[in-house]
Amino acid sequence: MSRTRIGILGYGNLGKGVELALRQSDDMELAAVFTRRDPADVSIATPGVPVRREAELEQGAGDDIDVLILCGGSATDLPTQTPKWAARCNVVDSFDTHAAIPRHFAAVDAAAKEAGTVALISCGWDPGLFSLNRLYATCILPEGTDYTFWGKGVSQGHSDAIRRIEGVADARQYTIPAPEALDRARAGENPQLTTRQMHTRECWVVLEEGADADEVRRQIVEMPNYFEPYDTTVNFITQQELDRDHADLPHGGFVLRSGATASGKGHVIEYALKLESNPEFTASVLVAYARAVARMAAEGQSGCRTVFDVAPAYLSPQSGDYLRAHML
Ligand code: NAP
Repeated sequence: MSRTRIGILGYGNLGKGVELALRQSDDMELAAVFTRRDPADVSIATPGVPVRREAELEQGAGDDIDVLILCGGSATDLPTQTPKWAARCNVVDSFDTHAAIPRHFAAVDAAAKEAGTVALISCGWDPGLFSLNRLYATCILPEGTDYTFWGKGVSQGHSDAIRRIEGVADARQYTIPAPEALDRARAGENPQLTTRQMHTRECWVVLEEGADADEVRRQIVEMPNYFEPYDTTVNFITQQELDRDHADLPHGGFVLRSGATASGKGHVIEYALKLESNPEFTASVLVAYARAVARMAAEGQSGCRTVFDVAPAYLSPQSGDYLRAHML
């Protein structure tokens, strides 16, 4: 059987993670990496695979690719890249701006339906695997309360927000679930928890020479939306210490639903992830869903999809017979 040919668009953390995940998928192969940069400046880990300019996709450079995995950023890249390339090929993206998903879906759906392609958006772990678990749990326990706790992990958005403060040379921000809140949710107490009760934020900051530490701390803890609603600790360290102790991108979290069946008996559903590398894990989810997209496209489907629309067996390289015999 021929292998599914995968293209990567955007070679950052996620793009590199997709390249790694493909090494563990015998039924798939990396056909090409596309980038907005000069390909001469982008060196990839897989020998023999071409690096091309994104613009070459318009001239048909991706026509032999089954699924293009879009690895650009959610803030400004994916809102334009996903509808643009869904009009040309089957795509998967990890768009994670939750509030903007309905608008993104509509734009991508129109492009994919017109072109007859399949486009899976907002794939990864949140949105993605966490969303699926919220959905399953709500269907099974219609009367109950949902909780999502994130961390301990690096939030790149919050780290970027600190780096934009005057006097800050570099920064890492960790989101940490509050242990007491997590314990109470797990115990089935159904607590009503405020934002401040659920998570704390821990910042590791490198100052520029001569910067005012107290002023930087004040600007961090008072930053609306990002830090003001949380209890935040700010630690100042050297660049060397940051590079040594905070170079990785771990993340994870917990999705819980605690509810009761009609007799009043209580039940708690919990799904947990502990990730040493957020981008490598997210990329592994994208690759499994790229397999599903190739199958749905081969069946003649078209339009935009999310993880809610994909049958689990489509993610597996194994046959239905195998799955029924070994995993059911
Ligand atoms: P990133 O490393 O900043 O890469 C984003 C883009 O920036 C790349 O595709 C690349 O595009 C460009 N780039 C990367 N390194 C560069 C460099 N050295 N110089 C110039 N340009 C460079 O971001 P990421 O960590 O891969 O994350 C991408 C997105 O994944 C995030 O925005 C987030 O929304 C999403 N995400 C989703 C989930 C989820 O669970 N759904 C989880 C994690 C992340 P070019 O190659 O075209 O230049």
